[in-house]
Amino acid sequence: MKKPTVAIIGAGITGASCAYHLSAHGFNPSVFEKSRGVGGRLATRNIDNQFFFDHGAQYYTIKNSELSLLTKLSLLTKTACKRDACAEWVPKPAENVGQYNKSMFVGTPKMNSFLKPLFADAHLIFKEEITRINMEENSWNLKSSEGLVDKFDIVVSTIPAPQAKILFEDILAEVQLLDKVVMLPCWALMVAFETPLNFEFDIWRSENSNISWLSRNSSKPQRVQSQDAWVCHANPKWSSENIDKSREEVCQAMIAMLADIQGCKLPKTLFEIAHRWRYAQAANILGQPYLTNNNKTLYVAGDWCLGSRVEAGFESGLSVAQSIISNL
Ligand SMILES: Cc1cc2nc3c(=O)[nH]c(=O)nc-3n(C[C@H](O)[C@H](O)[C@H](O)COP(=O)(O)OP(=O)(O)OC[C@H]3O[C@@H](n4cnc5c(N)ncnc54)[C@H](O)[C@@H]3O)c2cc1C
Repeated sequence: MKKPTVAIIGAGITGASCAYHLSAHGFNPSVFEKSRGVGGRLATRNIDNQFFFDHGAQYYTIKNSELSLLTKLSLLTKTACKRDACAEWVPKPAENVGQYNKSMFVGTPKMNSFLKPLFADAHLIFKEEITRINMEENSWNLKSSEGLVDKFDIVVSTIPAPQAKILFEDILAEVQLLDKVVMLPCWALMVAFETPLNFEFDIWRSENSNISWLSRNSSKPQRVQSQDAWVCHANPKWSSENIDKSREEVCQAMIAMLADIQGCKLPKTLFEIAHRWRYAQAANILGQPYLTNNNKTLYVAGDWCLGSRVEAGFESGLSVAQSIISNL
């Protein structure tokens, strides 16, 4: 039987999980991604092959291995590990972090590396931002600002909830449920120093400081070790208050905050840049793995459906794929 054609919007972990499970069942999904590569918030900034910074998700964990869905994630991790696409990260925690009792995984050499094998059998289309979806002659027409992109039987969105709300406003009645999802911003500072910071830790976190997370990127496996490269995340409150500031202003402010944590003058910086994540993590989630329409031809999915973590995105994408497969 001919399989329905499926379009997936977004090439982050949710899109990767959906594409991977559909491909395993004989589908040939097309994945539309507005940026130049896969990963979404699993992102690594490469500065002239000299500095590397994972400025989005820092690591991922597999928390509920007793659940069968998540067991699949751990199997996948082993598969990806075999391909050398991910590895366990064992950073030295600051006293305020405490010991992590779960393994922390990172993509190697970049955060998106463990996603790439999942898209192996999908048709990836980059630099294509889907701006409109409408039904014509029993097909969903996907459009970009340039015009018609293609027609599909089934469309799966994996973009952040506020963006999905706009895209699906006229075509999915349940879209109002997205109003309850709150996604908070995060300013990320990427900074490398001429001489190593005298911190005796690789990771630090705080709930009382404007900087909520600090990590020595160069402590991750298969990263360039020669430079002391750090990633700092500002907390959601500070990030919201400063959301419209320029990258330069934010760089300066965050470096000053870093100096306060260090308690003395910082060494000379070799490189610094700030990145604004407008929809970093969900504070309020949907509470179900996806939204769909009556005849199950439209799906709205993403990490924000179930949590605010890489694993939640994986689970949401997997649930969509299972629904499409069982609906055949
Ligand atoms: C600063 C930060 C720190 C984090 N730390 C952690 C952590 O330590 N551990 C953890 O587990 N999680 C962490 N997370 C959360 C984690 O990154 C996400 O849960 C996960 O990556 C979300 O994956 P996704 O596929 O659902 O969405 P995304 O990764 O956002 O993917 C959506 C994709 O859709 C694309 N897109 C958007 N609109 C369109 C359009 N109209 N047309 C085509 N393409 C479009 C985007 O470019 C993007 O690639 C962090 C996130 C951030 C930002």
